[in-house]
Amino acid sequence: MTTRTKIALVTGGSRGLGKNMALAIADKGIDVIITYHSKADDAAEVVKAIEAKGRKAAALQLDTSHVAAFDAFFKEFSTVLNKTFNSNHFDFLVNNAGTALYAPVASTTEEQFDTAVNIHFKGVFFLTQKALPFLNDGGRIINISSGLARFTPPGSSVYGSLKGAIEVFTRYLATELGARGIAANTVAPGAIETDFGGGRVRDNKEINDVIAAHTALGRVGLPDDIGGVVAFLCTEEARWINAQRIEVSGGMNL
Ligand code: NDP
Repeated sequence: MTTRTKIALVTGGSRGLGKNMALAIADKGIDVIITYHSKADDAAEVVKAIEAKGRKAAALQLDTSHVAAFDAFFKEFSTVLNKTFNSNHFDFLVNNAGTALYAPVASTTEEQFDTAVNIHFKGVFFLTQKALPFLNDGGRIINISSGLARFTPPGSSVYGSLKGAIEVFTRYLATELGARGIAANTVAPGAIETDFGGGRVRDNKEINDVIAAHTALGRVGLPDDIGGVVAFLCTEEARWINAQRIEVSGGMNL
């Protein structure tokens, strides 16, 4: 008997954590569709790397802040599912795409606030809603939060609050989708060295040192610390993990 190859959709899979997740998911024998916002060439390289692992892959453009474009996105997604993956459905939705916002409460503008809400909450909510008809029963949803929903350094009030909203939303997803056998969990990375926030954690030695000093395992996180955890949540072994927040931070700000 042949088992059906499962399919994951990873938003923001062109770089950083999403790229690492996509490659780690492929290592589990799962086909992967990634989305990118502006970096089509980087996304194409990720597709090649997944294909080199013997898996099927595709990259689609998506702005997760632009809800009005989601119907068109899922039309294209459905066509690609059919043509490239010979399927009408997929199994794992990873809501990863996102941008940084560092701004104190006193000077955050309404525009900054709205942009962050659209990317980190409204977009995740409606992308998930519109993905549901395509998601197989028994599938999984993995939403990417942040350590900043638990600890509160100055300057991340909007971003951290929205990640908190994602964690609550995830529990509601688990409640409402349990009847379909769909589990929903949050993965909350600590500070990780990526392009995020202009490479702030990776390229600013002072910030990097402070984070390492406040991390029990004594260093800043790397993309490789994260992707495998998300990939694990896509495996059969993880089937009973549901409605959880899994922080992957090396023990930051304990
Ligand atoms: P990067 O900046 O390295 O990558 C961001 C990814 O998101 C890229 O693929 C980018 O696409 C995509 N993206 C950005 N804006 C949009 C948009 N409007 N619509 C769709 N896609 C978009 O960030 P990370 O990999 O570090 O972050 C990934 C996730 O992890 C985010 O949700 C972030 O909040 C979270 N996180 C990150 C931490 C860190 O320290 N790095 C810590 C905790 C959580 P493109 O390449 O085309 O521009």
